[in-house]
Amino acid sequence: MAVPLSQMWTVASYVIKQKLLGRKHYPLVLMLEPLYRCNLACAGCGKIQYPAHILKQEMDPEVAMKAVDECGAPMVSIPGGEPLMHSRIGEIVAGLVKRKKYIYLCTNALLLKQRLEQGVLQPSKFLTINVHMDGDEEHHDFAVCREGTYKVAEEAIQMAVKMGFRVTTNSTLFKNADPERMRRFFDRMMEIGVEGMTVSPGYHYQKAPDQQSFLRERASTTEMFRAFFKKAPKKWQFNLSPLFMEFLMGKRHLECTPWGCPAYSLFGWQRPCYLLQEGYARTFKELITETKWENYGRASGNTKCQSCMVHCGYEPSAVNHTFSSIEGFFATARATLFGVDSDRGKNITPPPVTRYIETGVEKAKSDAVTQALAEAVDFRGDVTITLHDGTKHVGYIFNADDRVVEYFPANRPDVITLARHLVAGVEKTGRDMADGKTWEAWVKKYTEHKEKLARGEKAESIDIFPEVLS
Ligand code: SF4
Ligand code: SF4
Repeated sequence: MAVPLSQMWTVASYVIKQKLLGRKHYPLVLMLEPLYRCNLACAGCGKIQYPAHILKQEMDPEVAMKAVDECGAPMVSIPGGEPLMHSRIGEIVAGLVKRKKYIYLCTNALLLKQRLEQGVLQPSKFLTINVHMDGDEEHHDFAVCREGTYKVAEEAIQMAVKMGFRVTTNSTLFKNADPERMRRFFDRMMEIGVEGMTVSPGYHYQKAPDQQSFLRERASTTEMFRAFFKKAPKKWQFNLSPLFMEFLMGKRHLECTPWGCPAYSLFGWQRPCYLLQEGYARTFKELITETKWENYGRASGNTKCQSCMVHCGYEPSAVNHTFSSIEGFFATARATLFGVDSDRGKNITPPPVTRYIETGVEKAKSDAVTQALAEAVDFRGDVTITLHDGTKHVGYIFNADDRVVEYFPANRPDVITLARHLVAGVEKTGRDMADGKTWEAWVKKYTEHKEKLARGEKAESIDIFPEVLS
């Protein structure tokens, strides 16, 4: 079983309680991002493209615990950035264990061995180390833009398993994923003792350097997952709801519940979901009550949601469906007992979408300053804000609405809030950290490296990290 019974029971009783209380917008997993810094620069990552003064910041454990208590979700996932680079990650994890939250600490595992040796983490039934593994050695190292990463991660997994930690893997799949190689990779992960595997199609982050590899059609995503899960051996344990797996294979229709995995970071509560960045709420209550949820998800017609099948939007929908209908409950029980197999069940076509809408920076703004502010929020670099009195402020804007503009100054670690009516203009003056140059550099370097090896020449191990830091 991929998830222990105590965890299943905690989640099931929580969902049933929300249903009995008649709550529609309840959270299932809090995505807690305590920093954006990372020791990798993966091609498909849309999370690390910020100016250096943002990447240097860390969330205090006290702030993190306040968000956890405010949200109330029974599970907390800690992505990033790389959480093991956070100087107080041990305190954050200990605080969550004390609150009996089921934690998924997401890591690329480059620092895992070191942190385990330092005793930063202790085994607990509440803590799962969730290791980013995008496939076999060649595939993973290419996806994360650094050679040797797979080996380090696999060794760290084995060490953590031996020390008694719960360990899962997390694979983001792009259109170049080869089903046969992925199936062998699933075998290998089970062999080395992981408890369960999470797989999800990559979301086409507009800020990710590699825009070529995303799955942009739902039909290609479902076709790929049908190939992965064809007669899936019973030994494969997936850390996914069975109904979400049916959705990925195009056997079931689900609509997104973006509030199911709310994301809290240095900027606040991200609207509307972990993937889109259309402003931040100051409190969880404000996120839930003031976000225009009807503008998000495939059925809304939002153009950014049309090809998204990512687990943070649809896994909560699958869990909700399990507890909302007899059909959902029995379908979950059947898949849990008999496993998944893409040969079973009919392929379905989701209902057509009859209107399309734009939100965020794409939506036309009423005046030039409002448009410039929307573009600044979307920009991954510092800007210069000019006020009506002529004063200038330089920093990273992460939030702008009709009342306030919030930014991290380039030279101080705190947030500054300006009244919106004071702003006369905004100019993009910093380097755009999402300009795609790192990805182009990586492909060039990787191609040259492979050619060198093919010619039988000696080639040093390569990575992209130095370019990203510079
Ligand atoms: S490991 Fe890769 S995907 Fe994860 S935060 Fe770092 S750069 Fe992004
Ligand atoms: S469909 Fe995807 S991008 Fe759209 S709101 Fe849901 S999770 Fe976010």
